[in-house]
Amino acid sequence: MGFVKGLKCRECGREYAVDPIYVCEFCFGPLEVVYDYDGIRDVLTREEILSRPQNLWRYKELMPIDGEPTSGLNSGFTPLVKADKLGGYLGLKELYVKDDTVTHPTLSFKDRVVAVALSKAREFGFDTVACASTGNLAHSVSAHGAAGGFKRFIFIPASLERSKIVASLAYEPNLIAVDGNYDEVNRLCSEVANKYPWAFVNINIRPFYAEGSKTQGYEIVEQLGWRAPDAVVVPCASGSLMTKIWKSLKEMKQIGLIGEVQTKVFSAQATGCSPIVRAIKEGVDVIKPVKPDTVAKSLAIGNPADGFYATQVIKESGGFGADVSDSEIIEAIKLLARTEGIFAETAGGVTLASAMKLIESGHIAKDAVTVLSITGNGLKTKEAVMGHTAEPYHIDPNLKSFEEALKKINAA
Ligand SMILES: *Cc1c(COP(=O)(O)O)cnc(C)c1O
Ligand SMILES: [Zn+2]
Repeated sequence: MGFVKGLKCRECGREYAVDPIYVCEFCFGPLEVVYDYDGIRDVLTREEILSRPQNLWRYKELMPIDGEPTSGLNSGFTPLVKADKLGGYLGLKELYVKDDTVTHPTLSFKDRVVAVALSKAREFGFDTVACASTGNLAHSVSAHGAAGGFKRFIFIPASLERSKIVASLAYEPNLIAVDGNYDEVNRLCSEVANKYPWAFVNINIRPFYAEGSKTQGYEIVEQLGWRAPDAVVVPCASGSLMTKIWKSLKEMKQIGLIGEVQTKVFSAQATGCSPIVRAIKEGVDVIKPVKPDTVAKSLAIGNPADGFYATQVIKESGGFGADVSDSEIIEAIKLLARTEGIFAETAGGVTLASAMKLIESGHIAKDAVTVLSITGNGLKTKEAVMGHTAEPYHIDPNLKSFEEALKKINAA
């Protein structure tokens, strides 16, 4: 019943059948899922989409599965919040927050990719799922894998935020904390994936996994009333989300759901790990790997797998990039919280702080319909803001004590 035609090398165009593979045997280019868009165009109309339940599977024809989905049946379709207060503060006419801080069930956009990866892993017949993670993927594979009855091997850098480690452990996966950074964890996992018959969601089944990110783009367009935004600001780790948001917009045009796409795509990174933004700023195509050093651990990939393709998307769309310091990240987290009531994790701080720089520099016009991709919940990285907020007013349990505090509050 699916509309997947096969896999295709992004570099040399060589085609492959649908299998748990991810690189071209001939040129080592990454493989990408190809669809029968003419077939999808006939089925996936606006009316059909609107008649379906509000989860990411309302776009299932554009997902790389053959049968019905079996994971993440309640994931996706997060709110697109019209952020008038924040927009006013930034001087933007029409600003929106795509709020994946509330994605079911693990409060980050990784539930989108994992929903798709595990549905596909089941179709392939795997009984064990695994991943190399900067934190949110660990949490999400632990959760969806538990619900799906998979054995789970989760590899993380040992230095991850304690909140994210505990959040993953609650689901009782096999959690492997590696003394090394993400890029080292990822290298190790490539070796493990060669030896063990497991579905490594972001390695051997990465072409399928990555497609899940497209659902964020579809939803933004639908929630804007079937129009693509003028600007979208996307936090980049491997660069995959950014390339897939772009793919989603082009697909929607191709199957006739929207007209011309004039969206500029902007990359947001932490200065302590900004290989994609640096390439864009320097105007080069080659991504120079870096050693990450940033409070935004979920984005701390020094050698981004899709970095080159992310720079191509930025160029093709006419976007740009910005990078921000740890203190700018923390300030932006608090700004989003106090203006829109949304508490984002560090990646969200990166996105907003980067957007502010891009507005300042004129790369994002004041009248551009702008969407910020806010990808994870602040409760997952509480450590980052600890010590950077005010303290509570401490009182005794009586009215007098409260009113003394109130005097201080009113005087402040
Ligand atoms: C994984 C992640 C991203 C982006 O990941 P890509 O590898 O670039 O697709 C963004 N935000 C958060 C919170 C993440 O966990
Ligand atoms: Zn190839």
